[in-house]
Amino acid sequence: MTPLQLQGIGMTSQRTRDRLINRLLEQGIKNKDVLEIMANTPRHLFVDEALSHRAYEDTALPIGFGQTISQPYIVAKMTEILLKGECKDVLEIGTGCGYQTLVLSQLVDRVYSVERIAPLQEKAKEKMALLRVNNVRFKHADGNWGWPEEGPFDAILSCAAPETIPMELAKQLKIGGRLLMPVGDDEKQQLTLVTRSEDGFTKQYIEAVKFVPMLSGTQK
Ligand code: SAH
Repeated sequence: MTPLQLQGIGMTSQRTRDRLINRLLEQGIKNKDVLEIMANTPRHLFVDEALSHRAYEDTALPIGFGQTISQPYIVAKMTEILLKGECKDVLEIGTGCGYQTLVLSQLVDRVYSVERIAPLQEKAKEKMALLRVNNVRFKHADGNWGWPEEGPFDAILSCAAPETIPMELAKQLKIGGRLLMPVGDDEKQQLTLVTRSEDGFTKQYIEAVKFVPMLSGTQK
């Protein structure tokens, strides 16, 4: 784990952060590293100042462009699942405000993060520079196509839901690699884990979830 450079970043009180961690524990998050990192990651930097008093609530919040910062529980859950296997090179689809990116960057070797909305990704990049995070690379592109030049990856996660699993992404997994993403439509989505073996792919459903849809193309 790489400690964050938090000098000069006003941190929310220990009590507020403890409340969030207790809530994650209650919901079954067990990985100590994930809990510790989530307790020390400044989520308030990633939401609008007007909403920053709600930054440590276990809820999704708007980040502009019709998108949301993921709920802490789901960030913790997805990270915990990924960390059960090798996690040197991890591809993230949907940088958004960069909160999940920052959590991951402290727990894996390298993060490659793709986002289709340029200004959201620019803001996320600025936050990483401010916090002196140097193991994340960003690409403004349609994440349906992954990042083949940097693959294959140990793990791929997406915070946007396609209606079916994009095989182009699954193909960028190493043997033994895992793809974790919500799959489904607006009505019904399942957090799905796809594992690549020598013989092909296996699929496992984790739980019902609600994410923004995975869209095609890019937005300036
Ligand atoms: N973990 C992020 C979640 C943001 S919401 C956070 O906490 O901020 C999901 C993100 O996926 C949005 O920013 C959305 O623009 C992005 N997205 C949707 N479809 C995409 C695609 N095809 N390629 C890349 N990003 C995509």
